[in-house]
Amino acid sequence: MQGLSVLGATGSIGMSTLDIVRRHPQKFRVISLSANQRVEQMHALCLEFKPQTVVMVDASAAEQLKLMLMQSGDHQIQVQQGEQSLLDLVKAPDVDIVMAAIVGASGLLPTLEAVKADKKVLLANKEALVTSGQIFIDALHASKATLLPIDSEHNAIFQCLPKGMQDSVGHGAITDYGISKILLTGSGGPFRTLPLEQFDTITPEQACAHPNWDMGQKISVDSATMMNKGLEFIEAKWLFNLSADDIQVVLHPQSTIHSMVQYKDGSVLAQMGNPDMRTPIAHAMAYPERIDAGVQAFDFFNCQSFQFAQADFERYPNLKLAIDACRAGQGACTALNAANEIAVAAFLAKQIKFTDIAKINAEVMQSFLTTDVRSIEDVLRLDQEARKQASSQVDWLKENS
Ligand code: NAD
Ligand code: MG
Repeated sequence: MQGLSVLGATGSIGMSTLDIVRRHPQKFRVISLSANQRVEQMHALCLEFKPQTVVMVDASAAEQLKLMLMQSGDHQIQVQQGEQSLLDLVKAPDVDIVMAAIVGASGLLPTLEAVKADKKVLLANKEALVTSGQIFIDALHASKATLLPIDSEHNAIFQCLPKGMQDSVGHGAITDYGISKILLTGSGGPFRTLPLEQFDTITPEQACAHPNWDMGQKISVDSATMMNKGLEFIEAKWLFNLSADDIQVVLHPQSTIHSMVQYKDGSVLAQMGNPDMRTPIAHAMAYPERIDAGVQAFDFFNCQSFQFAQADFERYPNLKLAIDACRAGQGACTALNAANEIAVAAFLAKQIKFTDIAKINAEVMQSFLTTDVRSIEDVLRLDQEARKQASSQVDWLKENS
């Protein structure tokens, strides 16, 4: 029986994780849950999974949850509040596995804390790795933690790697294993064929309606701009110790192949299946075992034909920015991620246009292109500065459009 802590329990990944627990109560026990604000959903999770501790980052949400638990007669569950409490949550001795599924750079410190506490860390929160890169990987090296990728592409790549590479996440050398390329697939999102002149009028509702995956709002918008693929490009660099030249983005609209590894003898290994995040989550939770994830087997006789294409940077300028950031260095990556979080939130709030996201991202990234980042304090400082710059650009656009 493994003890589990779920960061971001009320989100799309959090809920899929808890569905795996539901299917395997003899294997996993929920020790703690955390979320930001969604009290009613968390209350329902408390009643079902009976965690020892819950953190609601938002203070009033925590107070509300305490009240609701008292009313439902649950006096055992400890409710805490604030970001600091997340750090204690992941360190608890009963916790073996930490699902890092907070969205955005807010997930960085608790995820890093789980690594430092030698836990088995399941990384969904790609922004944590994008913003801190080498610092995160160094912390992983210095610890006895295991890091397993949840992002479907990185989980697919992991599954297609030889055991030696799987055992050395963050530092294995692909050339030692005859690997010539990592092929990172992406669907192209909902606007793959939309005429470019209509991009200015894209609404948040349209951007969040992904053709293949059901996800949180932020990552849905990132998928529509393909910033998600860009963040994944940077994530892949760090997870598999790659250079930008080792990674090729491949558009694959059906999202059946979740990514591939190409070997120098010409072999290409792909991981496939229906697009359901419970597959990579179950894979990582049980690794190296295999368990039922509740996902239907792929039906080869009733499927669309597979298509592949190159990504067009005119359609997806954010993908280009992220690849440029990956080549430029940590300052650019941290700034780009921060700017993007602000820009996407402003787009979701209908304050700016879909096409403004890339404009804000480009401007902010440019300001920090050569900024040196050596410590987590540097990361946090730069993240804040980039957010400030992006917010003032949002204000300017609100007033001038
Ligand atoms: P979501 O928006 O559905 O859920 C986010 C969770 O984080 C919620 O539980 C929320 O309460 C919590 N949260 C938000 N802000 C917080 C804060 N400041 N402090 C603490 N908790 C906070 O997001 P999601 O789609 O589940 O994505 C979570 C992460 O997983 C993201 O980094 C995303 O890129 C990654 N990911 C998601 C998918 C997917 O299919 N949804 C796939 C691959 C990777
Ligand atoms: Mg992904």
